Amino acid sequence: MFVPRGCKERGCGRPALSGSDKCVVHHGDVAAHVQRLIAGTGGRIVLRDLDLTGIRLTDTNFTDAELTGCRFTAATFVGVTFRDAQIHLSFLDRATFEHCDFTGATLQNAVCAGSEFLDCTFCDCEVVQTNFLGIHGVGTSFDHSNLYGSRFVGSVLERVSMRDCNLTRAYFDLPHRESVDFRSSNTNEAVYVEPLP
Ligand SMILES: [Zn+2]
Repeated sequence: MFVPRGCKERGCGRPALSGSDKCVVHHGDVAAHVQRLIAGTGGRIVLRDLDLTGIRLTDTNFTDAELTGCRFTAATFVGVTFRDAQIHLSFLDRATFEHCDFTGATLQNAVCAGSEFLDCTFCDCEVVQTNFLGIHGVGTSFDHSNLYGSRFVGSVLERVSMRDCNLTRAYFDLPHRESVDFRSSNTNEAVYVEPLP
């Protein structure tokens, strides 16, 4: 069960990192702390119910990892591999992802709202009922993925492709019909809504 705790530093209202009594700002060595959490799982990386708000990870390998109930709000991921990862009920909101590879991953009931995705790959993924509201996606591909029930309303999508995708019950803004490459996808099963003025 995920229970947020406050940072011990006086006057700091930020959540403490799991495994520490300090937040990402007041912890002395966040990178080493996160590496210890990852290494502690041994073999396949399994992270459950951890608060890792605001962390920064570069060139980290989460291939085949399980991330359940974790909070990566406002985190930064650069060159991180999530190939074949299982990501369930986790918060990846207001985060930045640059050159991250999610090929073959499953994202179910994940919250990615307000995040930035730059040159990322979500090919051959199961992206089910995932919240991409208000994201900024640039140069990112979701080709050959199942996007059932996922929502992209309010997002800015540039050079984004969703070819050969299942779009059943997926929600988009009307302008996405022009800005996104939906070739060979079942756009008739998607919902396109008028954007807010
Ligand atoms: Zn703090």
